[in-house]
Amino acid sequence: MKPVKFDYIRAESVHHAVRLLDEHDGDARLISGGQSLGPMLNLRLARPGTLIDISRLPELRRIEANDREIFLGSLVTHEMLESCAHPGFVFDAFRSVARDIAYRAIRSKGTVGGSLAHADPAADWPTLLLALNATVDIEGKSGIRTVSVEEFVVATFTTSLEFNEMIIGVRIPVPSASARFGYFKFCRKVGELAEAIGCVFDDAPRGVRRVVAGALSGPARLLPPHTELQLDHINTAILRRDLRDLDDSLDEGHAHLYAAAIRRAIERSTS
Ligand SMILES: Cc1cc2nc3c(=O)[nH]c(=O)nc-3n(C[C@H](O)[C@H](O)[C@H](O)COP(=O)(O)OP(=O)(O)OC[C@H]3O[C@@H](n4cnc5c(N)ncnc54)[C@H](O)[C@@H]3O)c2cc1C
Repeated sequence: MKPVKFDYIRAESVHHAVRLLDEHDGDARLISGGQSLGPMLNLRLARPGTLIDISRLPELRRIEANDREIFLGSLVTHEMLESCAHPGFVFDAFRSVARDIAYRAIRSKGTVGGSLAHADPAADWPTLLLALNATVDIEGKSGIRTVSVEEFVVATFTTSLEFNEMIIGVRIPVPSASARFGYFKFCRKVGELAEAIGCVFDDAPRGVRRVVAGALSGPARLLPPHTELQLDHINTAILRRDLRDLDDSLDEGHAHLYAAAIRRAIERSTS
């Protein structure tokens, strides 16, 4: 199938893109890497009157890090993170997650901002960024607002973005040197979206411990804080119960799968 007809405008700046979104009053969509929107247009699941191309705005392609936080512009691609040379534990996490996303052609085009805005429950960045306690910078008509990833992704394929707002980038607090991170996903085939994701982040000196289950029937979710991060202490029955409390569509077999993903994320966790 082919997309329905649409107008195409290349945005010259972030302000220009936001103005265009506002002027089109909900009938325009941004396109960045096109790796999710392209198929949706072809299948006619998305029928915007106008596409606003933001893929050539260099200010959205920045990767910056200082000793407090890391900033990833919304146009940073999976490939840029797979191959970036920044030192540190968070960038190690980005590299290891990015290299297992789909395949090279998709990684070279697909962006962090597009992945968050698309809000597919099985996508990697929303799960990882939730675990790392990231926030999302959003630009709209009245300026920039910042929300947590939990507030941003509200349901399957649904975010808290208004029709005339766009993601500028995400901010990740830099953890302490002894923090640990682990990630594991089950996929039916290499290159496919995940069946179940487990992600753990433990920054004991800062009192932060986040265990996340991704690829649920809805957005990635934080498990209750009592979830232990020592393998010897994990009570898998409680873990399965917590998972089923978070997602009541999970049967016992699927709860096992998510619990196994979390166990493996803990096994793999390193600082
Ligand atoms: C075969 C296949 C396998 C895949 N496997 C994986 C996988 O294993 N893991 C994974 O995480 N992902 C996977 N993906 C998804 C892929 O990573 C896409 O890159 C990502 O979902 C969307 O990024 P994009 O830049 O292409 O966004 P686009 O397709 O351009 O846009 C997606 C949506 O986001 C909106 N949007 C884009 N940029 C912004 C912005 N700055 N502000 C506000 N809204 C914006 C668009 O309007 C659109 O609604 C896969 C995709 C395919 C086709």
